[in-house]
Amino acid sequence: SEQKSNVRRILLKISGEALSGDTGFGIDPKVLSQTAKAIRDVQKKGVQTVLVIGGGNIFRGAALQKAGFDRVSGDQMGMLATIMNGLAMREELKAQGGKCVLMSAYGIPSITAQYSATEGRDLLNQGYSLIVAGGTGSPFFTTDTAAVLRAIELQCSEVLKATKVDGIYTADPVKDKNATKFDALTFDEVISKQLEVMDLTAFALAREHHMPIRVFSMSKPGAFDKAAIGDAEGTVVSD
Ligand code: UDP
Repeated sequence: SEQKSNVRRILLKISGEALSGDTGFGIDPKVLSQTAKAIRDVQKKGVQTVLVIGGGNIFRGAALQKAGFDRVSGDQMGMLATIMNGLAMREELKAQGGKCVLMSAYGIPSITAQYSATEGRDLLNQGYSLIVAGGTGSPFFTTDTAAVLRAIELQCSEVLKATKVDGIYTADPVKDKNATKFDALTFDEVISKQLEVMDLTAFALAREHHMPIRVFSMSKPGAFDKAAIGDAEGTVVSD
């Protein structure tokens, strides 16, 4: 079940918010279709793809906690939201002719299989794309942390974190027109420059296990294609 040599395996992390398009809530079929097409295109080039989707377009545990709601139940609702997004994405990938399996941190009989790293690697080698939903399965974590964790377990070459911005900048490029983009950074540089890439738990896990994180924009034409095959695109954070 090891990764075949010369085969590139990547993990794409997209936020739930991205799936909602301009509405900010729910799932925009247009975004769903564009994202699936982008994944199909890189799959056709022989890149093995794992997808982790957030749930922020439907539910975030921390938001209700502020109103006094139990965080554990709230986070469970958030994790269920990622499964709903995963179901939608699987159907779209299949509709576009892709072979795809949805796995979740915890199984839900008749809805999704329980995540397994060894089965996941086998499926990837058999040409399936993998959607890994349910986050880490534990409250108080994020889907960014789940993305790094799954990338390590599934022996991916890197985590591709899709954001609105096409990389990591010296300052917020929306607010500061003098902001410049980094092509590459080390984990230590991200810390010393106090740049934000992922939450600290996700970042620490990536740093400890030498898992590169590439920040790029999914909406920039051709960017995902390049990032997926490892061409210069976005900002790569590595050792
Ligand atoms: N969540 C969780 N544990 C995890 C991953 C996610 O409890 O390992 C919950 C948490 O409530 C979170 C929600 O699921 O707010 C949606 O995930 P996230 O906020 O990471 O989604 P994104 O911001 O990427 O859309």
